[in-house]
Amino acid sequence: MSNPLLGLDWVDHFSKLPDAYFSRVAPEPLSAPRMVHFNAPLAAQLGLPASSAGDADLLAMLSGNATRPDTTPIATVYAGHQFGTFVPQLGDGRAMLLGQVRNAGGELFEVQLKGAGHTPYSRFADGRAVLRSSIREYLCSEAMHALGIPTTRALSLSASPDPVRREEIEGAAIVCRIAPSFVRFGHFEFFYYQQRNEMLAPLADHLIRDHFPQFADFPNKYAAWLTEVVERTARLTAQWQNVGFCHGVMNTDNMSALGLTIDYGPFGFLDGFASGHICNHSDEAGRYAYEQQPRIGYWNSSKLLQATLPLLHEQPEQAVEIAQGILGRYPAAYADAVLGGWCAKLGFQEVREGDRDLVNLFLNILDRGSNDFTRCFRGLAQVSTTSDAAPAIRDEITDVAAFDAWLSSYRARLQAESTDDAARAVRMNRVNPKYVLRNHLLQAAIEQSEHGIDTEVDRLFQLLSRPFDEQPEFESYAAQPPEWARAISVSCSS
Ligand code: AMP
Ligand code: MG
Ligand code: MG
Repeated sequence: MSNPLLGLDWVDHFSKLPDAYFSRVAPEPLSAPRMVHFNAPLAAQLGLPASSAGDADLLAMLSGNATRPDTTPIATVYAGHQFGTFVPQLGDGRAMLLGQVRNAGGELFEVQLKGAGHTPYSRFADGRAVLRSSIREYLCSEAMHALGIPTTRALSLSASPDPVRREEIEGAAIVCRIAPSFVRFGHFEFFYYQQRNEMLAPLADHLIRDHFPQFADFPNKYAAWLTEVVERTARLTAQWQNVGFCHGVMNTDNMSALGLTIDYGPFGFLDGFASGHICNHSDEAGRYAYEQQPRIGYWNSSKLLQATLPLLHEQPEQAVEIAQGILGRYPAAYADAVLGGWCAKLGFQEVREGDRDLVNLFLNILDRGSNDFTRCFRGLAQVSTTSDAAPAIRDEITDVAAFDAWLSSYRARLQAESTDDAARAVRMNRVNPKYVLRNHLLQAAIEQSEHGIDTEVDRLFQLLSRPFDEQPEFESYAAQPPEWARAISVSCSS
């Protein structure tokens, strides 16, 4: 039987660009690979037959043991601002693009292996990814997708007993990532800071042709595309804040030119709310703390605009003026999106004057008591506007006096919209997830898979594909984290 991947419609737009953008590479095989998980719904979307899941040839290609006969994978070159400092060359140090497919509906998907071995951009690192971090990326990207947050996705997770040295020896793994495009802010930065400005337009044209065709005929198509990217970045950051997601490493090389969440490393979902929460143990100064993310999204957007100035106008002063106009769209795009998101979480059908204060008061109550972000928002669906009965979630709130006072303002605000409680609860439960990928849930799945048992990965995959639905058999997965979860430390090591 031939490899079902070979039956897809490979169009490979990126690898047909000039080779200044990438190097040709060969995956380094993983020995004795096993399929830890295969994403059947995404496979179907790509056009793979249902029988693909157990296909040996498919596993061989997704674990770096076989390549397409007609072409070689590529690793792309990019730069980036890491923790505020410019690094002139990074690139796909352990990611390889197998190509780009078009499905029956005309949608484009790049297919990339992460952890498939050395590339010219590996520097001193090994080109590998460990099973632990690969499970984290695999499950989180799919969890984000199910939450309705733009993200790269994951088709498969394969693992091998091959040793990989981090703080300890760990097992190797490869995630097959899928995205319309993996181009990052840093791709543009690479050429701009090398003063190879002539390389900017072909890359932007490629993106516009594939992913922003609506701008192709605009007088300044680059300004239109950049405005869209900046606004998407603002809205993406707003969605992260609304769901309590901390990215952890918002370097410009980890920012998508399509406004997707990309590069899942030391990310974390808030358990107890703390506006200054730092999820990445390596981020000592808290540059990427939860409350900093919107500001960093803005700063990163300014770096993208800097790197694309030559596209905006021949006259440098005019280019700067256009860029400033585009960047100026970020604050309002963010503010509208984040407030709209909070109001939806509170069950309001429209944003009214005073809502921002009501949101901030609630967040302050959670912050003071480190009360559980996900559970407390979910619990608000049970607030009654027809009786004074307290919602069950009140028992978990530390500052009860402040909560009771807030509750009466909240009830008054709900009554002003005069919708019935049951309908509002349904609406709220569609935006306040019951289940998120908490670190301790991941930890259990990782420990199991490190012993060769992958049932917990599958359970989390199933659970988090429906984060808004009550799933009584998984009730404990929505509980507050156990005491030991506090000791979990997540760093850049992956
Ligand atoms: P990250 O912090 O994961 O976004 O990675 C930053 C840069 O380091 C990127 O260029 C990665 O490709 C590269 N990199 C990270 N880990 C490895 C590794 N194990 N082997 C090779 N390159 C890596
Ligand atoms: Mg990265
Ligand atoms: Mg990474």
